[in-house]
Amino acid sequence: APELAGLAAVVTGGASGIGLATALLLASRGARVACLDLAPEGLPEPLVGIRADVSDDAGVRAAVDQAAQRLGGIDILVNNAGIGAQGTIEDNPDDEWRRVFDVNVFGIVRTTRAALPHLRRSHHAAIVNTCSIAATAGLPDRALYSATKGAVLSLTRATAADLVAAGIRVNCVNPGTADTPWIGRLLDRAADPEAERAALNARQPTGRLVTADEVAAAIAYLASPLAGSTTGADLAVDGGMSGL
Ligand code: NAD
Repeated sequence: APELAGLAAVVTGGASGIGLATALLLASRGARVACLDLAPEGLPEPLVGIRADVSDDAGVRAAVDQAAQRLGGIDILVNNAGIGAQGTIEDNPDDEWRRVFDVNVFGIVRTTRAALPHLRRSHHAAIVNTCSIAATAGLPDRALYSATKGAVLSLTRATAADLVAAGIRVNCVNPGTADTPWIGRLLDRAADPEAERAALNARQPTGRLVTADEVAAAIAYLASPLAGSTTGADLAVDGGMSGL
């Protein structure tokens, strides 16, 4: 049987980039998959699209319960929805700090809380959070974004400790610069997108950006029963940025 046959997965931010690549990979390995996203329309078969905003508590609970109903439970939760923010500590007003924390951090808190009653009924329960190298890298001009991802890293470890006795594993992936629509939007705003892309590639020890499929493969591994002895871990998928 395929590796994830019989398992049901929910992927937030599952309609684009890393989330979509993850949803497709989990489905190809036999999982039933629901994508919770602000814009879930047009997803390829067999993905189930459910509209949800992770910054809306009641909406998230309803969407997670709907996913569990349509999939017949939840075994795997991938907390991947996230938004970017540029700037130093002086550049963003308080409201912007609250808005980005509300999605990147509280979004994970809400979705995880909503999914836990379902995950507790699974014999292969796993949570994977999409963090970032920004959690620990000390990147310039990314104070707010980095702070949210630092919180995701510590939340991952603390939640892993709280849930280990229940048999629920919690891990995260730390992508480097990954070639998704997100980076496409950043490049579109540059004066010379091609030169900017070349500069981004040159900054990676491997000489190229990370692909969404490479991040998805790491997420799928951490979500799989073969990662049964891995919890509280963070896996870098960053072209060597953090390790070399
Ligand atoms: P993306 O913009 O291609 O996809 C993000 C998806 O999340 C979109 O479909 C969007 O609609 C959805 N989303 C945004 N806000 C939401 C909300 N409030 N509720 C529900 N869905 C919401 O971006 P991506 O590059 O695939 O990023 C996915 C994750 O990877 C993010 O958490 C991001 O921080 C992280 N990440 C990305 C990179 C990178 O270089 N691309 C690097 C490190 C970490």
